[in-house]
Amino acid sequence: MDLGLKGKRALVCAASKGLGRGCAEALAAAGVDLVINARGAEALLATAEDIRERHGVTVTPVAADIVSEDGRATVLEAAGPVDILVTNAGGPPPGLWSDWERADFIAALDANMLTPIALMKALLPGMIDRGWGRVVNITSQSVKAPIPVLGLSNSARAGLTGYVAGTARQVAPHGVTINNLLPGIHATDRADALDRGVAEADGITLDEARARRAATIPARRYGTPAEFGAACAFLCSTQAGFIVGQNILLDGGATNSVL
Ligand code: NAP
Repeated sequence: MDLGLKGKRALVCAASKGLGRGCAEALAAAGVDLVINARGAEALLATAEDIRERHGVTVTPVAADIVSEDGRATVLEAAGPVDILVTNAGGPPPGLWSDWERADFIAALDANMLTPIALMKALLPGMIDRGWGRVVNITSQSVKAPIPVLGLSNSARAGLTGYVAGTARQVAPHGVTINNLLPGIHATDRADALDRGVAEADGITLDEARARRAATIPARRYGTPAEFGAACAFLCSTQAGFIVGQNILLDGGATNSVL
């Protein structure tokens, strides 16, 4: 399917690896020129080179911490006017409800709520002026079905979800859509880190921890960044202009609910 995106320009945050990279790859395959970001320059430059070579699009890597004000300013300056924004950052650490102090909540809110909001505030006006734009926020399955050990993530992402619910309706008259993609477990470094925690806590191997988790998913496997990226690219497509303010689960059926 031609997604109608050839020649558009996207900023994909936290995109040297994992789900962000999956989104960047799928947009590049649709002919979108990219600005991609991550903190570590080495992996970011390698990803940029790889995407450029395979898809023939322009890829501008910007090594910066998207959660810091300075880092965000650097990324936004390099990005300039973009048609598509994919927000993403690392997820907060797991723990127990009694572990977290105010500073832990502030860090989680900064990364997973206030950073995407700041990026939207910076880039939505240009999209509105041009009469076309797409924003996809990478959030989490935990928005629909809380994951107890990820209380910091549950809290911050719930805040972002509330913000998007109203804002998406305010910008929709201008041809701009905002939607959230909710990953269930996907095979990335983040999943490895969570599984390592389970393996250590339960005295089992990493493979056993993965197999145990996969067995709880109706699809009996983890999702892939490529599958996730394809969903993101579709939400950014011209055909998806009537999808507004939605929270779309990609979880292999793991969330056991009707709606
Ligand atoms: P990942 O494989 O660990 O990749 C994270 C990417 O983000 C890397 O490119 C990393 O590069 C970059 N990054 C992290 N913090 C950053 C920052 N402050 N500024 C700029 N770049 C940053 O993670 P993932 O699995 O793709 O997860 C992406 C998001 O989805 C996370 O918020 C995660 O909690 C959420 N999620 C993931 C899953 C899953 O199963 N994978 C499920 C639910 C939710 P640098 O480290 O070099 O910066």
